[in-house]
Amino acid sequence: MRDLAGGPRVLLKRLRELMAEPLEPQERLDRIVHDIAQNMVAEVCSLYILRADSVLELYATEGLNPSSVHLAQLRLGQGLVGTIAASARALNLPDAQEHPAFTYLPETGEEIYNSFLGVPVLRAGRTLGVLVVQNRTHRHYREDEVEALETTAMVIAEMIATGDLARLTRPGLELDLRRPVSFKGLSFNEGVGLGHVVLHEPRIVVTNLFNEDSDEEIGRLEKALSSLRLSIDDMLSRREVAFEGEHREVLEAYRMFANDRGWVRRLEEAVRNGLTAEAAVEKVQSDMRARMLHMTDPYLRERMSDFDDLANRLLRQLMGRSPDDIASSLPKDAIIVARSMGAAELLDYPRDKLRGLVLEDGAVTSHVVIVARAMGIPVAGQVKGAVSMAENGDAIIVDGDEGSIHLRPQQDLEAAYAEKARFRARRQELYRELRNKPSLTKDGVAIDLMMNAGLAVDLPQLAEAGAAGIGLFRTELQFMVASTFPRAEAQERLYRDVLDAAKGKPVTFRTIDIGGDKVLPYFKASVVEENPALGWRAIRLTLDRPGLLRSQIRALLKAAGGRELRVMLPMVTELGEIAQAREIIDREVRHLSRFAHHLPTSLKLGAMLEVPSLLWQLDELMQAVDFVSVGSNDLFQFVMATDRGNTQLSDRFDPLSVPFLRVLKHVADAGHRTHTPVTLCGELAGRPISAMALVGLGYRSISMSPASIGPVKAMLAELPLGELKALMADNLAGPAANLPMRALLHTFADDRGIPL
Ligand code: PEP
Ligand code: MG
Repeated sequence: MRDLAGGPRVLLKRLRELMAEPLEPQERLDRIVHDIAQNMVAEVCSLYILRADSVLELYATEGLNPSSVHLAQLRLGQGLVGTIAASARALNLPDAQEHPAFTYLPETGEEIYNSFLGVPVLRAGRTLGVLVVQNRTHRHYREDEVEALETTAMVIAEMIATGDLARLTRPGLELDLRRPVSFKGLSFNEGVGLGHVVLHEPRIVVTNLFNEDSDEEIGRLEKALSSLRLSIDDMLSRREVAFEGEHREVLEAYRMFANDRGWVRRLEEAVRNGLTAEAAVEKVQSDMRARMLHMTDPYLRERMSDFDDLANRLLRQLMGRSPDDIASSLPKDAIIVARSMGAAELLDYPRDKLRGLVLEDGAVTSHVVIVARAMGIPVAGQVKGAVSMAENGDAIIVDGDEGSIHLRPQQDLEAAYAEKARFRARRQELYRELRNKPSLTKDGVAIDLMMNAGLAVDLPQLAEAGAAGIGLFRTELQFMVASTFPRAEAQERLYRDVLDAAKGKPVTFRTIDIGGDKVLPYFKASVVEENPALGWRAIRLTLDRPGLLRSQIRALLKAAGGRELRVMLPMVTELGEIAQAREIIDREVRHLSRFAHHLPTSLKLGAMLEVPSLLWQLDELMQAVDFVSVGSNDLFQFVMATDRGNTQLSDRFDPLSVPFLRVLKHVADAGHRTHTPVTLCGELAGRPISAMALVGLGYRSISMSPASIGPVKAMLAELPLGELKALMADNLAGPAANLPMRALLHTFADDRGIPL
C-alpha cells in the first residue's frame, strides 16, 4: 500500500505490540488511534463504541478535541457514525459535510475536515462500534485503505470482546456487547440450566491475530482451502447425496462458495494485510454476515448460513480442533449453543459439565435432542439468533420449560432463575424419595414405568430414576456415534453391560433402527431415496442385510447367556417380517447351542407398532409376538402424515387429539383381548399429561426418558384412574367431534390437584 506510512502490515505489527504492552485501557486506545492516524496519513482517527442504550460514544480520538472523549455521542442511525453502525457498512466520502446524514457535533471541532472514511467495528456480524479517519483535503480513500481500516477495526473488536474496555464505561452505562438479551424458541427438554456459553462451533479464539510471514500464511490458507474443497467434493460424490435435492443443493452452494474467487481474494488480501489465516476467515465472514444481516430475502439469508458453516469448516481445518481440546477448556457449567448438531457431537462433551443445550434449529425428535434428554439436560430449540449474540463465556440461562434463553441476564432475573433451579432440585429430591416406592395410581393400580436408553451413559440412570426396567434400548445409537460399524465384540460388551446394570430388571433391546432420519455416515444406501422416512430403514434394511442382523442377534444371545433376552423389531409393516426375523434368531440359537454356548433362559420377541398397516391386523400381530410396543413418534408421523423432524409442523397436530387417542386405545384393547403385553415407548410416555391419557386408555406399562419417571410417578400417585377412564371413555366413544381432549385432561387434573 503505497501511500500508507509503513502500510497495514506495519500498523498491525504496531497494534500487536500495543496490545501486549501493560497499558491502561484508555492509554492503549489513545495510542492505537494515534498510530492509525499516523500510519494512514490522516489528521484524525476516532473510535466510537456502541453502548447498550444504542448510543455511540467517542472513546478515543487523535485530532478531534480531546475533551470531547466520552462526551460526544450519537444515536444509532444518527449522523455518519450512526449510519455506519446501523447499516454495518463503511462510508467513504471526499466531502463529508455534503452527506445528508452529516451531523455536526460542535464539541469535537471536526468541521475543518472534509474527507471521511468510517468502518464498522464488527464481531461475528454484530456492530460494536465505528472507527473513523478524516483528512482536511477532499480525497477519496482507496479500496486498500478501506480494507486496512477494516482489518484494524477487527483488532479493536477483539479488545472490546475481551472486556478490556469495560473499565472505561461510566457507572450505569454498559457496552452493547454486554447487553442482556432474551430469545424465545421451543421447549425441547424441560429443566432450567444456569451456566456459561460454550459455542459449539466457536468463533475464532483470537490468540493469534497477526501472521509472521504472509507468504507462509497464504500457503496455510491455500492448503486448508484445498482440503476443504476436497472434502466437499467427497461428500458430493457419495451416492446417498448424489441426487438429493436439499442436501445436494447445500453442498453445491458450499462448493460454489469454496471456489468463489471474490471470497478467496478477500481472504488472501486480509492475510497479506498481516492477519493469520484464521483471523482472515473471521474477518471476511464477519463483514459478509453484517452486510447480509440487513437482507430480508430468505433465500439469501439461508445461503448466508451455508457460508457460515463453510467458514467454520475452514476454521476447523486451519485450527485442527479435536474433541479433547474442547473438553479440557470447558467451564464446569457449560451451556452449549449451536446452530445444529449431531448426536455424536454432543457426546464429545463431558456430561458432568453440561448444564444445557441451545439449538437454533432441530426438532423434539432429532437424535441430538433424544441424547440430550437421556443426559437429562434442559434444551431450548429453534432459538433463532442465539449464536451470533452469544460470546464464549457469557452468562446464560436456558429455560427448557419455556424454550427460552436469557443471555447475560440481569441480577434479578438470574436470582429468580436460581430460585427456580433450587425449587427444581427440591422437587428432584422428592422424586428421589419416590424412587423406591411402587408406582401406583391413587386408586391402587400398578403401572410399570420403564426407561428408554441406548448408550452406556444412560445406565446409571436406571437406579437413579427408579425405573422398572429398560423398555426400549435403542441399539442403533452405538452405531450412530461410531465412525465404523461396531464390531460384534463391542456390541456384545455393551449388551452385557446393560444387562449387568439392569440387575435382573427387564431390558428390551430393539434391533438396529437405522435409515430414515437415523443416518450412519459410514453406511451408504444403495439407492437414493426420495422419502427416506418411508424408505429402506429399520427391519426392512436389516432383513435385506441379514449379516448385520445376524451378528447383532448373536451378540445379544451371547450377552444374555443365563438370563432372559427380550428383542424387539422396529418398523414392522407386515407379519412376514416377524417370521423372517424369527427364522434368523432360531438359526443363531441353533448355531450357538451346537457350540455349547450358554444361552438365554428365555427369549421373548416383540414388534414395534409404528406403521399403521398393523392396526388392521392386531389380533394376528399379537399372536405372532410375545409383546408389542407402540412407537408413538413414528406412529404419529405416519398416522398424521407429518414428518417428525419438520419444525414447521412440530406444533401443528396434537397427539392427544381424538383420532390418535382412538388409535392408541384400539391397540391397548387388542392387547387386553389377546392377553399380549402392550407398552408404549415414544416421547408421549414421558409427559405427565400424555402419560395420564395413556393410562386412562388402558396402558399399564410405558417407557420414557429417565428424567420423566419421577414426574410421571408423582402424577400417578394423585390419579384416580377409575374417574379418568370414565371421562376418556365418554369422550372418545361419542361422535367424532373435534373435542379438545388436551383441555379436558388439563381441567380434570387441575380439579384434582394432579401434578402435570
Ligand atoms: C418411536 O418411533 O416412537 C420410537 C420409540 O422409536 P424412535 O424414536 O427411535 O424412532
Ligand atoms: Mg421409531
